[in-house]
Amino acid sequence: MTHVDLHCHSNASDGLLAPSDVVRRAAAQGVALLALTDHDQLDGLAEAAQTASALGIGFVHGVEISATWRGKTVHVVGLGIDPREITLATGLARVRSGRRRRAEAMARSLAAAGIPDTFEAALRHAANETMIGRTHFARHLVSIGVVASPAEAFRRYLVPGKPGYVPHDWAALREAVGWICSAGGQAVLAHPGRYALSAGALHDLLGEFRAAGGRGLEVVTSSHTRDQFHRFGALAQAFGFLASRGSDFHAPGEGADFGALPAFTAPVAAITDALRI
Ligand code: AMP
Ligand code: MN
Ligand code: MN
Ligand code: MN
Repeated sequence: MTHVDLHCHSNASDGLLAPSDVVRRAAAQGVALLALTDHDQLDGLAEAAQTASALGIGFVHGVEISATWRGKTVHVVGLGIDPREITLATGLARVRSGRRRRAEAMARSLAAAGIPDTFEAALRHAANETMIGRTHFARHLVSIGVVASPAEAFRRYLVPGKPGYVPHDWAALREAVGWICSAGGQAVLAHPGRYALSAGALHDLLGEFRAAGGRGLEVVTSSHTRDQFHRFGALAQAFGFLASRGSDFHAPGEGADFGALPAFTAPVAAITDALRI
């Protein structure tokens, strides 16, 4: 799994690079098997697959679906999906459809907090306008000097309890997993360490995810600490999940990069075992 990266983004969602440039960057940093997993849509996959083939690296068709579980947002990565499958495509179209209204509400909330005119401005940061999201607002807030970094934009404005955050209903967890299974893919719960759940709630989430058809748990990812690699590796073992590894790369100089991800460590088999590659 050391040369495997099963989670990253292009400008088809909230990454900065075109899909072909994401693949070139990953290959240059030693990735030999890559999944592109843009949020809630599949537009970048054909271009990425073509570039991977030209470069001679392995490619997995992926997606990262925004889901709502007990009122919290969780992300479900789908790996090895068929992008032409209609249930998944229709479900993703529904998930995308609420983004614009949510962004308008975020802009009103930011205006009330003294930062006007952010909707059109954030939209200009989104190469794919249907995918307007918090990252595009974060980049706008950096560009006008309100904050020094996207991370600061999230800390001060874009997370629950802060002005600029608007609660949103995404796909139900069960739906997201079902769509991935319909499309012949493997469902992986992304970055479980980011959800700020109690041990009991996390246990419930993993149980419901598995009951819905979930197969994998992201163990090694850039937002996890080394302790979390071990904690989620052990949970993967306890629940019978296969382990996944992915940088969650979005943009050069913005958070994680491909080459910086630590080696794979988990007491269970890797999700690549379940992918036909
Ligand atoms: P959205 O789908 O519009 O809610 O945006 C979610 C995206 O925001 C995630 O996929 C990350 O790219 C980004 N994000 C969420 N939380 C943070 C954070 N604390 N720091 C930086 N980026 C974040
Ligand atoms: Mn993102
Ligand atoms: Mn995510
Ligand atoms: Mn991601």
